[in-house]
Amino acid sequence: MEIKDRILIVEDDKSIVNLLVTVLKANHYEVYSASRASEAKSIVSSQCPDVVLLDLGLPDADGMSVIEYVRSYSQMPIIVLSARGHEQDKVRALDLGADDYMVKPFSAPELLARIRTALRHYKPAGTPSVVSDEVTLLNGRLVVSYKKHRVFVEGTDVKLTQNEYRIVALLARFSGRVLTYDYILKEIWGPHMKDDNKILRVNMANIRRKIEKNPARPEFIFTEAGVGYRMTE
Ligand code: CA
Repeated sequence: MEIKDRILIVEDDKSIVNLLVTVLKANHYEVYSASRASEAKSIVSSQCPDVVLLDLGLPDADGMSVIEYVRSYSQMPIIVLSARGHEQDKVRALDLGADDYMVKPFSAPELLARIRTALRHYKPAGTPSVVSDEVTLLNGRLVVSYKKHRVFVEGTDVKLTQNEYRIVALLARFSGRVLTYDYILKEIWGPHMKDDNKILRVNMANIRRKIEKNPARPEFIFTEAGVGYRMTE
């Protein structure tokens, strides 16, 4: 199973949403959609999508506020899809940190090409900037493949979710060192994540169920009580 790039559509016009969902799914993207700015912000911080497609005329706020929100902590690509073709809107959106700006109506092939370009230029959180393609631990029993975005235990793909993968990839990058709960939360879910370890504990329980022989006596990822987690060296 391939790991799909995830795209968030922020748009209140249902017919455009339906069109985009159809086109993107046909091109093997995983798709989320939000019709309001507030909903968009919560999906951005909970799901960390790979690309945001953003309409500016939203019912509860100007789409520009979504650009500011995203840019306060993430470089995830933002492509504005707007009916507003004025130069000053384009300039403002790009100055706020949008990566691209398309005026409606746009063609699907052009949008897909621009999404591919945005993805090429973007390295999501959890992807190491180091050159190595993988980290191998405990004589190869655990392999984290950054290239394939997968984790293998004794040669078998353990099929982690995106967030589970990102947590394991992050710990593997710093294997042997303790990463605090707070650090991991903010790296995976962004700085607006509340200091609530519950979501992390739930993810860790699922990770251990998938990678450890006995999740109660882990060999790969250890809990440093009250502090955080540490991956074996
Ligand atoms: Ca609109």
